[in-house]
Amino acid sequence: MERKGFFDTPIEYLKGVGPSKAAVLNKEFGILTYSDLIQHYPFRYIDRTRFYLISEIGPELQYIQLKGHIVDKQLIGDARKKRLVATLKDERGGHLELVWFQGIKFIDKNLQIGKEYIAFGKPHFFNSKPNLPHPELELVSEVRKEFQTALQPVYSSTEKLKLFFLDSKGFMRLIYSILQQGFSLIQETLPYNVISHYKLMSRKEALVQIHFPTDSKSLQRAQLRLKFEELFFIQLRLLFNKQIKKRLHNGSTFSIVGDLFNSFYKNHLPFELTNAQKRVVKEIRQDTYSGLQMNRLLQGDVGSGKTVVALMSMLLAADNGFQSCMMAPTEILATQHYNSISSLLQPMGIAVGLLTGSTRKKERDKLHEALKNGELKLLVGTHALIEDKVQFENLGLVIIDEQHRFGVEQRAKLWRKNSNPPHILVMTATPIPRTLAMTLYGDLDVSVIDELPAGRKPISTIHKYENNRLRLFGFLKEEIAKGRQVYIVYPLIEESEKMDYLDLMNGFEHISNVFPTPQYRVSIVHGKMKAAEKDMEMERFKRGETHIMVATTVIEVGVNVPNASVMVIENAERFGLSQLHQLRGRVGRGAEQSYCVLMTSHKLSSEAKIRIDTMVRTNDGFEISEMDLKLRGPGDIEGTQQSGVLDLKLADLAKDQQLLIEARKVVEEILTEDPSLIQEKNLNLRLYFQKKGLSEITWEKIS
Ligand code: ADP
Ligand code: MG
Repeated sequence: MERKGFFDTPIEYLKGVGPSKAAVLNKEFGILTYSDLIQHYPFRYIDRTRFYLISEIGPELQYIQLKGHIVDKQLIGDARKKRLVATLKDERGGHLELVWFQGIKFIDKNLQIGKEYIAFGKPHFFNSKPNLPHPELELVSEVRKEFQTALQPVYSSTEKLKLFFLDSKGFMRLIYSILQQGFSLIQETLPYNVISHYKLMSRKEALVQIHFPTDSKSLQRAQLRLKFEELFFIQLRLLFNKQIKKRLHNGSTFSIVGDLFNSFYKNHLPFELTNAQKRVVKEIRQDTYSGLQMNRLLQGDVGSGKTVVALMSMLLAADNGFQSCMMAPTEILATQHYNSISSLLQPMGIAVGLLTGSTRKKERDKLHEALKNGELKLLVGTHALIEDKVQFENLGLVIIDEQHRFGVEQRAKLWRKNSNPPHILVMTATPIPRTLAMTLYGDLDVSVIDELPAGRKPISTIHKYENNRLRLFGFLKEEIAKGRQVYIVYPLIEESEKMDYLDLMNGFEHISNVFPTPQYRVSIVHGKMKAAEKDMEMERFKRGETHIMVATTVIEVGVNVPNASVMVIENAERFGLSQLHQLRGRVGRGAEQSYCVLMTSHKLSSEAKIRIDTMVRTNDGFEISEMDLKLRGPGDIEGTQQSGVLDLKLADLAKDQQLLIEARKVVEEILTEDPSLIQEKNLNLRLYFQKKGLSEITWEKIS
């Protein structure tokens, strides 16, 4: 089939474009071809069927369209502050001033007294008298029929493009001309049976209607069709990839559940697993037993008990003679995992290794050796374990904790550490909305731990204004008197790093004064400290030797001190929702009632207010993540940057959830029935991959 068609034509060959406009189009909007240009969709539409009378103009009107004759024009002011004022008179005899401050010469030359015009713009009021600054003007005699659609498209443009006459109107003309020339060449991309089943608009019609809608109903149908198409192809890529990965790779088969797993489960597990934990262990067991390679995402709110699930998977690997490793994003976390895992395994006499950036050379050499010859089965570490020097005898399972901190490259490296790619379990405590997960991790299987261990008391969250700090300190003293510990967290935002450190240090000093030694002991941990110092302070806090931990968000991820019962977050309005939720998750880990206190100033933006209210209202990470997506859009949610979610032109993951679910369902059905896309009705889909080039399907990219 043809690879290069009409729509692949470089934009400079379009009449009225040429090399210099093409260069600006590319620079400003990345538009290279005809196809790119017709995907520069309008961001708004204006109802051009309605003509207003000048007497009707009121301050409530955003945009108005008028028809009338120019009866007068005058240049006013001196050379430095000149303006052009023309008078428009409508059929009822109303008069309105049209005003220009820029481009006066050009307009003056072209504006013809006595002729009838359509004027369009945003009215301004001066001494409660309306005028129309910089209106769009068209001679009634020259209005082109084809642009007289009821809803006129408005395109985004830039100052640069406007210099090249590519304002909204300019875009409209170019797009119109492409659609006119190429209309009959627009090819359908979706399977015909899908189109007819969902009664979707054809691609041809949708592309015309989205630019030049005949009415709002057709516009909606066009938008729906094109949104569906966007979501459909993202899902097709993801699920097709997933399938290919499965077909290309045999995973290591963990055929037995052996002594290590069983004895741990029966004799050494200090608590009963929650049903959710049991379900996930089962899912992992099924994956690793299947002969296929596992790529699973484990989502579970903070404190839901992911670590023990990870540990049991590692034991399963060991039972089958495979090595496994668990990777954490920071040294503190890796050490914590190492400590809790080795203490759980100690009675069973199983060795665990710890490899981080600060592991000493002698120890590291020993670890390298033991990993290479297969003596050491379980390894915990930071990204130090990705280094090429680290080689395994037979790595069967990789667990990645808090995955969003790892780059694609790093993950691919892990993947290559074994001739057969190891099973991969990605764990994240950042719940993400279902639709986002479907897109970000659409090619992973997803497990969810949606249940907290029994007996946990829900954390009580309170919002306090800064002037209530004295009472807060009183409350903290009461908690400390009960034997509890307290976190006080300050924001650290890169742009204002200096100020933030100052805040942190001032806060620390203030707190040290309010909580004086020897009665109270206060720790501090922040990003500028050396790893060893940080660890030491964390350890002191963990052992209960200090009462208060003053910190920046370094403690955000995973830190576990069950005796800590109060989390105070200073300047809470400066944190995002998911970060607030992560921080709150540091408490509520023991049997005691825990508290999260959000301190803010009195000045709160409406969005900050929603964030704080959401935190006070709910402890449910998924609910919070949905709100986060609504407030910020997918662009600001971690992990989305390299995912293609942001390339969406029309669909919105927060608003079009139902459509996404539908699109994914359709893709699943198609791939189940026709995994290689060889059936006649799926020809369009095969063409899609051919056109994209199969090279795009690189399975290493994801996992
Ligand atoms: P996260 O999912 O945030 O990583 P952890 O694995 O750190 O959570 O578990 C949090 C705490 O809950 C740990 O102290 C852990 O020992 C404990 N825990 C895990 N599962 C259970 C359970 N089923 N019952 C009781 N406590 C549990
Ligand atoms: Mg954890």
